[in-house]
Amino acid sequence: MSRSKKNKRNSNNNRSVPAKSAGIRPSKSLGQNFLTDEEVIREIVEGSNISKETFVIEIGPGTGALTLPLAERAGHVTAVELDERVIPGLRVKTFSLGNVDIIHEDILKVDLEALISENLAKYGLKEVRIVGNLPYYITTPIIMKLLEEETGAASITVMMQKEVADRIAAEPGTKPAGAITYSVHYYAEVSRITDVGRESFYPVPKVDSAVLRLDLREEHPVKVADEDLYFNCIKAGFSHRRKTLLNSLMSLGGYEKAEIERALTAAGIEPERRAESLSMEEFAKLADSLGGINCETSKN
Ligand code: SAM
Repeated sequence: MSRSKKNKRNSNNNRSVPAKSAGIRPSKSLGQNFLTDEEVIREIVEGSNISKETFVIEIGPGTGALTLPLAERAGHVTAVELDERVIPGLRVKTFSLGNVDIIHEDILKVDLEALISENLAKYGLKEVRIVGNLPYYITTPIIMKLLEEETGAASITVMMQKEVADRIAAEPGTKPAGAITYSVHYYAEVSRITDVGRESFYPVPKVDSAVLRLDLREEHPVKVADEDLYFNCIKAGFSHRRKTLLNSLMSLGGYEKAEIERALTAAGIEPERRAESLSMEEFAKLADSLGGINCETSKN
């Protein structure tokens, strides 16, 4: 049964206290759709693999639907919230647990490395896991920050719009894949925890959601000489999905068409192919062979 149908049927059984009664008028611009479904909350907390040895960073605690159940399982929780209106209520709710800090900050500006090293040392904890029901408007920048900063976190468990989750969870080299698929899979293994119907939130958003867990890899699945060039090739390849790779890679800038064709051929890739048909290994070979052209040019 789809999550959405299940929620419709159970709509009166699984509801916790909605944010409305916490006196908070949800802000659209902050992406505030508060979770109201106890079963989804349980699935996220269980799917996050946290224990008493875990330091949890929660992104966007809102009125605390996830914060309390996370704190019951974790060694310590630091929740980062941009909306100052919810912070006093959250502090009251979590005070008696004794293992929750609330930081009033934009998650995109937080120095994660410092936050993590300070808390692991202070509470003698062994690992870090990041959890959040993300605001839709900045899902991708948040995920990319968490991955690119290579913080040493063991996993990132996040709720997002279903279409974005489908894209991220797609296998590289298949039709549903996009540039973000290759970026995320470079850093993490992706598992789908659950699909969540829109009725599980207050207010009800216009889209359904899904929860993914990204388990950070110890080693990247492909080796490249120049990471920036690798990601730029992926971005350029997907910049015009319907164009051939030969044409879409022209948006990289700085290369003649003949050079791109030469790099594609050297990497064993037909210039007529489309970006989504390439494996991660093929993008890596392409970046390395384009990098070779850069070296030749700078020598001449
Ligand atoms: N965790 C709560 C829940 O599940 O009910 C709220 C989730 S709501 C989808 C997203 C939360 O992220 C909101 O509380 C919002 O204020 C907060 N938020 C939005 N932008 C943020 C940012 N840049 N940094 C930190 N929190 C942010």
